[in-house]
Amino acid sequence: MAGNDMAVSGKPGRVTTATFSGPRSCRHDQAIAAGNDRGQSTRWSRSVFDFRLRRATAASGALSYHHLCSCQPANRSQAINSLPYDNAVLAERALAIADNARELAALGWTPATSSNFSMRLDPRHVAVTVSGRDKGKLGADDIMVVDLENRPVATSARPSAETALHTQVYRRFPAVGAVLHTHSRAQSVASRLFARAGNVRFEGWELQKAISGHHTHESVLDLPVFPNTQEMSELVSRVDAWLDAGKPLHGYLIDGHGIYAWGVDMAEARRHLEAFEFLLNCELDLRRLSA
Ligand SMILES: [Zn+2]
Repeated sequence: MAGNDMAVSGKPGRVTTATFSGPRSCRHDQAIAAGNDRGQSTRWSRSVFDFRLRRATAASGALSYHHLCSCQPANRSQAINSLPYDNAVLAERALAIADNARELAALGWTPATSSNFSMRLDPRHVAVTVSGRDKGKLGADDIMVVDLENRPVATSARPSAETALHTQVYRRFPAVGAVLHTHSRAQSVASRLFARAGNVRFEGWELQKAISGHHTHESVLDLPVFPNTQEMSELVSRVDAWLDAGKPLHGYLIDGHGIYAWGVDMAEARRHLEAFEFLLNCELDLRRLSA
């Protein structure tokens, strides 16, 4: 984060406490500007470095504070939002992630704080869920920013353990805008059942057409199953190897774990995720009924 700036997020109406990190050599009153994701800004003059602020924030609760002390003219020219990403875009994406995560949690696909979700902010930054949060109750504080090398940006929060699998998708597919990872029962059971084959092959299902690029039930749709590991670099290598072999990839299962699916935007990612869930349930039912 640039020089004297800091970002604080809070929930609407909540007391937000922040410590201003400007130079203590400054003897002038500090002018603090706060900008929210609607582009509004307000100024306060303070002679202390710590301030307490009660303010109804915008929906995302995202605020940026900036040191605009007159003793440092250079600071005056800083834009309200000098974060390396667009705060308004983050607010919008965070809302979309929270809304979709709540719906997926209601379906029972994110048990026990599992699962993680992300959306691209720009070519270099991704909004991703903070580790270990209840996906049915995500707020602005539960979504953070990382760069494409998995480094947290302008936050001390810890991203989901599997963030590397999200950023890999964004690096490999520049058009992808959203990545969803869930742990539904069907995804978990199917991943065990098809682990030995290393792949689930869907053929003859009308719903294959829900996957981008598939225009007929007569197409063949492969969903690979990669072995589970707590070493994310191993999983990243397996996904890279699949893609480097030139095989199409719209999503994948991890053995005993869950699914990853993605799309150019949240709507397409949801459609892909729901199609895979439906198709996996169909394959499981066929095996149950023909047992
Ligand atoms: Zn997981």
